[in-house]
Amino acid sequence: MKTRSAVSNRRNVLGLKIDVDTYAGMKQGVPRLLSILSSFGIQATFYLSMGPDASGRAILQLVKNPRFLKKMLKTKAGRLYGMKTALHGTLLPSPMIALSFPDLVEEIISAGHEVEFHAWDHRRWQDELHKRSDEWIEDWFEKGISAYRKMVQEEPSSFGAPAWLIDDRVLKILGKYDFHYLSCTRAKEAFIHEISGLMEIPSDLPCLEEIGVPQGVSRILQNLKDGWIHVLPVHAEVEGGVWREYFVEICEAVRGMDLEILPLSKIRELLLSENLPVRKYRMELLPGRSAPCAV
Ligand SMILES: [Zn+2]
Repeated sequence: MKTRSAVSNRRNVLGLKIDVDTYAGMKQGVPRLLSILSSFGIQATFYLSMGPDASGRAILQLVKNPRFLKKMLKTKAGRLYGMKTALHGTLLPSPMIALSFPDLVEEIISAGHEVEFHAWDHRRWQDELHKRSDEWIEDWFEKGISAYRKMVQEEPSSFGAPAWLIDDRVLKILGKYDFHYLSCTRAKEAFIHEISGLMEIPSDLPCLEEIGVPQGVSRILQNLKDGWIHVLPVHAEVEGGVWREYFVEICEAVRGMDLEILPLSKIRELLLSENLPVRKYRMELLPGRSAPCAV
């Protein structure tokens, strides 16, 4: 998909994958993003963290992982994510994320956006998945998906793994649910996961927070000039927070391009007729990130 196709009915498409990772991101970031999206008349796919916001535990990572510290300093994460968020799960109790805001979840859906499943406990997944048992993973999905059902009154169609972190066990366990596709990687092109047989629609573009501003905006727009399907990863905490003006700038630039913005379920429909490669994901440390992502 890197090269522009000769097939004339291929349209140039952009998907917006908006991850909500924290309580503050849900409470303040989502309403701001809803208003930006509405002013441009575009639809996005929101991946919600349902359960506890233990993001303050990230402070513990500073001690253990120098790359994380570097990222925190580079992106001024304290400012990006807010001091209160930095204390949730440590000095302050962990509030529930989407579960605390049923009206807001309804608002996302009634505005025509999609809501999918991102996490039960986002922070613990990204910090502890590797050392947790299969039972822990099963329990994490059970809790998260029953919370999703309670809020949305249906099954999620898609799972987007926290921090684009997956392993073989995860792909097997999620086969118990009725997901139609996954968005768990930062691969450059869509593929079929060898283990689950599910379609992967990756976030192929960089995150604004991985590059920084303003140069991230031009890098993202530059990447949009090639190929036919792109997905931009957006974080409610960042693009719905202190960097919202840069998100507006991206939306404005995209409006002037020969691009159609579609929710991820519509991108899946476009990809169903493609002969996608079947392969296994790999783990790779991408520029600007503190830990490897599935690609
Ligand atoms: Zn996330």
